[in-house]
Amino acid sequence: MLSYRHAFHAGNHADVLKHYVLSLVLGYFNQKEKPYWVIDTHAGAGMYALTDGFAQKNREFETGVARLMASDALPELVQRYLEAVNAVNTEGSLQLYPGSPQISAHFLRDHDKLRLFELHPNDFKLLQQHFAGKHRQIKAEMVDGFHGLKACLPPPIKRAVVLIDPPYELKEDYQRVVSSLQDSLKRFATGTYLVWYPLLQRPEPGAMVQALQQLNTQNWLDIRLQVEQPHADGFGMYGSGMFVINPPWQLPEILSSSMPSITELLGLDASAQFNLEYAIT
Ligand code: SAM
Repeated sequence: MLSYRHAFHAGNHADVLKHYVLSLVLGYFNQKEKPYWVIDTHAGAGMYALTDGFAQKNREFETGVARLMASDALPELVQRYLEAVNAVNTEGSLQLYPGSPQISAHFLRDHDKLRLFELHPNDFKLLQQHFAGKHRQIKAEMVDGFHGLKACLPPPIKRAVVLIDPPYELKEDYQRVVSSLQDSLKRFATGTYLVWYPLLQRPEPGAMVQALQQLNTQNWLDIRLQVEQPHADGFGMYGSGMFVINPPWQLPEILSSSMPSITELLGLDASAQFNLEYAIT
């Protein structure tokens, strides 16, 4: 059953955190001439209209990317993420929001490659249409992303960024992330893996992060952004996190200096905070 549609949430606080961290990692990969692959296991539609359709229902982008766009005091690397958003909009407007595949495409150089997996037939069609004519560099498949990832590893060139961003509608997604990474690290230990997860009042996200910290890797980083007080009824997402395996060594410093402004802009109440943990040898 696939009921999740990312278009409802495009550009919200969780997308901002996820795509900001992705942009930082890709900016780091671009510092070396050597080509790399980006593998996006749960790609979504690639691009989202904000002015009509699903995104207008709850207008989640208004408390997400729109708040950053309205600020004139952002750290330079946050601005570089926003350049990927501006690149798909006419000057100053916010009509479209780029999904993770388009964020990656923005950073890719001619010799880098993007592999995309998306299971929802409608979103897959939109994804294909969005990247039509770019088959030499970007390949999208309507395949389970965890299976797709297995088939890609190790990549033919030994540099790769993997984004794992499931909807977590099914509880089994949490366990699938952990087992997929156990397998991926055996196939390709030096890859940089990014896992997005929601902050919820239920045990699965925390248990997943604990299991990820115990994987066979010395290098990891966990950044969480809480935007509001957890709801009294116990439901709802009150923030999100990104767990990064083999992060660029500069990532802790960059996040320590930029997350205070992001937290201030995206916070919905006084409990807004970020939490950064890492182990880098
Ligand atoms: N990564 C996208 C972005 O940041 O723009 C958003 C992805 S959204 C959170 C999750 C997507 O995964 C949905 O489009 C859903 O249809 C898709 N999906 C769910 N289960 C999947 C699976 N096993 N393999 C591939 N795609 C899946």
